[in-house]
Amino acid sequence: MKDLTIVRTVADLRREVAAFRTAGRTIGLVPTMGALHEGHISLVRGALGHSDVPVTSIFVNPTQFGPNEDFGAYPRDEAGDLAKLEEAGCRLVFAPGKDEMYPDPQLTTVHVSEITEGLCSPLRPGHFDGVATVVTKLLMMAMPERGYFGEKDYQQLQVIRRMVRDLAMPIEIVGMPTVREPDGLAMSSRNRYLGTAERATARALHRQLSAVAETVRDGQSSCTAAASAAAKALLSAGFDVVEYLTVVDAESLHPLERVTGPARVVAATRLGRTRLIDNIAVD
Ligand code: AMP
Repeated sequence: MKDLTIVRTVADLRREVAAFRTAGRTIGLVPTMGALHEGHISLVRGALGHSDVPVTSIFVNPTQFGPNEDFGAYPRDEAGDLAKLEEAGCRLVFAPGKDEMYPDPQLTTVHVSEITEGLCSPLRPGHFDGVATVVTKLLMMAMPERGYFGEKDYQQLQVIRRMVRDLAMPIEIVGMPTVREPDGLAMSSRNRYLGTAERATARALHRQLSAVAETVRDGQSSCTAAASAAAKALLSAGFDVVEYLTVVDAESLHPLERVTGPARVVAATRLGRTRLIDNIAVD
């Protein structure tokens, strides 16, 4: 690896970051769980666009997976990830093991309330505590000027924005648009779980979210009616479960009946053994 340095300890990360700082550079942290695709790489490009030195972390964080979730099966491909990151212009990768991230039993948890109460939370208890805590740790370890996160995980992005604001962390959170496959499916590391027939069905998710956004943007139409029609259409198309499909306020994530300001159509579904989430803005 020519221009890409890989570090596995916090001490090495801090030393490398300090060297960039001494050279007058700003740092843009891109936290990921690896199995990288174009969506992740767009965050690295976002950092480059702000003239930050892109620093990517790769860590499959066990504390954000529930006991019956796919932590063990989560795709891992470090060699492929490093090649993609170097190609994209990333300069530093932090790929710690579990003992480096959690050397001691953790007595401290970062909990963001209210915006973690609906949507994904009831089905993934403890998930956002795991996310908020590991992101806090990664931000404290790298101390970047900016952190780059995808709108693809919209509730997560709002949780992190709020956490940074509430804790007065001196870090700008940059939300980046969702990168999609040509048929509209949001790129996700979990898409590789989909079989051929499921992959064909999966495109209906973005279509239905777009249909809801189109219907409710006039401010007159019922969000509940549009969302329940879309959920039915997904089930008819072959989705196994629609965990939720709702129109929410873009910041508070409270469900809306009519759109009166910035809003988002958000959904979580299951197709076979794959959990697919997506969301789009109501313009
Ligand atoms: P993950 O590795 O799934 O934890 O994702 C790491 C970061 O990449 C998160 O900020 C995600 O929101 C972001 N991300 C994942 N998929 C996409 C996508 N399709 N487009 C843009 N960002 C994404």
